[in-house]
Amino acid sequence: MTTKEKLAVNGGTPVRTKPFPEWPIFNEVEEQLVLEVVRSGKWGGTGRVMLPEIESKFATAHDAKYAVSIVNGTVAITIALQAAGVKPGDEVIMPPYTFIATASSALMFGAIPVFVDVEADTLLLDPSKVEAAITPKTKAIVAVHIGGAPANLTALKAIAAKHSLRLIEDSAQAVGAQWQGMGVGAQGDLGTFSFQSSKNINSGEGGMILTNDEAFADMAWSLANVGRVRNGAWYQHEHIGWNLRMTELQAALLIGQMTRLEAQSAARERNGKLLTELLKPIDGIQVLSRDPGITRHAYHLYMFKLDAALADRVDKNDVIAKLVAEGIPAAPGYVSLNKNAAVIAETKKWTGEDRFNSCPISERACDKEVLWLHQNMLLGDESDMYDIAGAVRKVIQSYT
Ligand SMILES: *Cc1c(COP(=O)(O)O)cnc(C)c1O
Repeated sequence: MTTKEKLAVNGGTPVRTKPFPEWPIFNEVEEQLVLEVVRSGKWGGTGRVMLPEIESKFATAHDAKYAVSIVNGTVAITIALQAAGVKPGDEVIMPPYTFIATASSALMFGAIPVFVDVEADTLLLDPSKVEAAITPKTKAIVAVHIGGAPANLTALKAIAAKHSLRLIEDSAQAVGAQWQGMGVGAQGDLGTFSFQSSKNINSGEGGMILTNDEAFADMAWSLANVGRVRNGAWYQHEHIGWNLRMTELQAALLIGQMTRLEAQSAARERNGKLLTELLKPIDGIQVLSRDPGITRHAYHLYMFKLDAALADRVDKNDVIAKLVAEGIPAAPGYVSLNKNAAVIAETKKWTGEDRFNSCPISERACDKEVLWLHQNMLLGDESDMYDIAGAVRKVIQSYT
């Protein structure tokens, strides 16, 4: 037994005072590209010089045939659902351990989220619980690659095929991730991404839809381009759609950000794996499992848990406060969406029913167990991982 070190919250020396890498990371590459757009005078998404380039690069990077750029990751899900044929009143199965946009994107047009619990050891949608939630109204499953870890696409695709459901991948956190050697996003029917400031590549705001199906791509494009027809006449509007275009300025930033994606993804993978090895032996900590099908984890978040016994006895927010004082900016993460009052009220508005989907694993993960570290913390060197693990050990030992 080592003697307990005095915690920084109690006036001890913090494990670390050095800051972690800042986000975003950019240089003259982005500056030049943005300047080029400014000087061209073609700033709008209708000019389309840099947008086709980023769409093509992004699709290629994810092994997808078609990409449609769009204003943000939230409406990307709405448009993907609509392009897949989901209508008001249809039910959409999704995990509750996710950002609220996964649910609000469906509720935006009266599609009803049905929450199915996550696996305790991965925090990803549990395929073994999906079938029990399917009703005659179910139209789609949204798999969320939370933290950048692909959900079990093999199992979810099989369930979707068996029940004639559409599979949408909310890949907002999974830029560059791979399931069984293939990019995420187009392994289901459609997949959506976010380029909001915190995400693994960033244009301030922005989003992308990927698919391998030309009809879905054309419909998504039309819905995001005021119902126009690709290659049609300017005032040929064949659907009710909206103007959801990204700008050329955003495309310029993304082209710059994409030049670093491979190196940054490799750094996150390397440091994420190392951190798992360092946290695993700490008594009271449970690292998440990684399915061998995850051939590349995007590590938008590094998530880990207090183990069941410790979580029952200590308040995770107290652990977080102590880690923050040690110089490790950990965060508590989500409130389980199945318990969000706004989601419940909006669901009632559309269905007239008080619906509650019990998801005890997600609820407990949110309330008691899960801690987050953000992706930028994985972009430094190995010594940063030793600092994180050292601080976790120090704080956890203070409870023994
Ligand atoms: C960020 C995020 C979104 C929404 O993307 P925005 O670009 O912020 O609208 C959707 N789903 C998940 C899981 C996210 O993390």
